[in-house]
Amino acid sequence: MTSSDSLTKLDFIRDIIANDLSTGKHSTTITRFPPEPNGYLHIGHAKAICLNFGIAQENLATGANCHLRFDDTNPEKEEIEYVESIKTDVRWLGFDWGDKLYFASNYFQFFYDCAVHLIREGKAYVDEDPADAIREKRGNLTTAGTHSPWRDRTPAENLDLFGRMRAGDFTEGTCVLRAKIDMASSNMNLRDPVLYRIMHAHHHNTGAAWCIYPMYDFAHPLEDALEHITHSLCTLEFENHRPLYDWFIDHCPVPSRPRQIEFARLNLTYTVMSKRKLLQLVQEGHVSGWNDPRLPTLSGLRRRGYPAAAIRDFCKRIGLTKFNSTTDVALLEFEVRDFLNRSSPRRMAVLDPIKIVLDNWSEEPLGHAVIPNHPQNPEAGDRNVSISGEIWIEREDFMEDPPKKYYRLGPGRHVRLRGGHIIRYTSHEKDAGQKVTLIHAEILPGTVGADSPEGVECRAAIHWVDCATGVDAEVRLYDRLFSVEDPDAAEGGFTQVINPGSLTIIAAKVEPALGEAEAGFACQFERVGYFISDNIDHRPGVKPVFNRTVALKNSWGKQGGH
Ligand code: ATP
Ligand code: MG
Repeated sequence: MTSSDSLTKLDFIRDIIANDLSTGKHSTTITRFPPEPNGYLHIGHAKAICLNFGIAQENLATGANCHLRFDDTNPEKEEIEYVESIKTDVRWLGFDWGDKLYFASNYFQFFYDCAVHLIREGKAYVDEDPADAIREKRGNLTTAGTHSPWRDRTPAENLDLFGRMRAGDFTEGTCVLRAKIDMASSNMNLRDPVLYRIMHAHHHNTGAAWCIYPMYDFAHPLEDALEHITHSLCTLEFENHRPLYDWFIDHCPVPSRPRQIEFARLNLTYTVMSKRKLLQLVQEGHVSGWNDPRLPTLSGLRRRGYPAAAIRDFCKRIGLTKFNSTTDVALLEFEVRDFLNRSSPRRMAVLDPIKIVLDNWSEEPLGHAVIPNHPQNPEAGDRNVSISGEIWIEREDFMEDPPKKYYRLGPGRHVRLRGGHIIRYTSHEKDAGQKVTLIHAEILPGTVGADSPEGVECRAAIHWVDCATGVDAEVRLYDRLFSVEDPDAAEGGFTQVINPGSLTIIAAKVEPALGEAEAGFACQFERVGYFISDNIDHRPGVKPVFNRTVALKNSWGKQGGH
């Protein structure tokens, strides 16, 4: 059995934090999860959520906290729908920000004041160079940049111009505010980065109050410092931005000194992860929405039936490193299967039904079969499943001409019905196209709950659904959305390698209780896989819809869990 606690191990970030607490550098730890509300959260975000909220939980005794901060400084791509979905997903993953909910857009005045401070100190200037000139004059890794003609304006001139930028006197693109650092720095991020640009845009929180908006690199350290974040954990792409992060902390009037630490982001095989690409899949209709069960979004994985606890265990298992790599998605699937094997009740459903008539049923009719809800867990109890003289079985559990080692039904063969009789084949019918349409068999009286009688070879039990009481259900068989390991590297882009078999919808027969199940009911369809009733389309008693979470075994060849 996997215990999630046994997965918790120290890593370089937890080492740093433990050290800061033991040396007294900090008396507690304040972390933050800072999503930009421009899309739904995905499993990569889960890694950052588990890290930041996990560290706060582990250090609760010192008064630790993790802030949920919406990094909503860019008015163009952000929407309230995303804010709400992010809150839902963080809660679903099992974390609670308490009253520590923040919006970076509430700090706009503070960012502005910091910019004014830099101007007064001679450390920022209004640049009227057009965007392409700014880009050109930055130079490159081998050539130093060149100064803008506006770089040496006086603080008074800059204050006046910046005030007019804010007042809305200029159109977009007329000018920007830049930090005055070092145009020859070997770190390109320090070559007078832009702090503010003009955007006459409506913001979801501040409306039309602002027409200048701060750049991420400027706003982020100020947000962290204002919230007294002690350790600002971010992904490796920001390693080269750290000197700039520190420069802003050094030169702005901030109330604390957060420390930025970088870790490798999560990448998964057979998956694209960036919000921009996920948005494209949604907008172009490749999937049904942000919560399509084939997407790596948390709302998609939830709908697919991935338990939050399995995702948390997965995040613990992959750990933290300082180098980028790609994790095999089979590892995530393994974690999900492992969790569901322990937690899921068993039910019966037939995905590719063919009917059997039990011709001698009246000799020993059985009202119902008694079937354990979990084979390894007696505490899960048994249930009664009604059965009658006509049942559905899987088409693949019958063979007209079975090989020697086939232990299911066929001419001359016996098989046990799960929880019921042993049955013996008698005949079958076919249509004009030679397709088997009906099977006749007979029950062996006295075999319910008893061993096979002498002379009867019966090695297997198959699942079934009663024709009289079974229920029709729509079953959605989900598979990987992409047919190649690295969709980002595909010629023509990731949309060229979408797996055409990523969704198969079938009409199945399920045991009666499943028709009445609540939305979000997770179970194992015995011998088939793990399923969950759909949290959008399933309607108990009216329209049962089940999603395949994961098959019983990995069918993708070489990767066999771990
Ligand atoms: P994307 O590249 O998918 O658009 P992002 O980094 O732009 O993601 P944000 O909303 O800015 O998305 O991310 C919020 C937090 O989640 C950041 O601290 C970021 O570092 C972290 N994060 C995003 N993607 C991953 C990932 N794949 N692995 C680990 N952490 C991630
Ligand atoms: Mg981002």
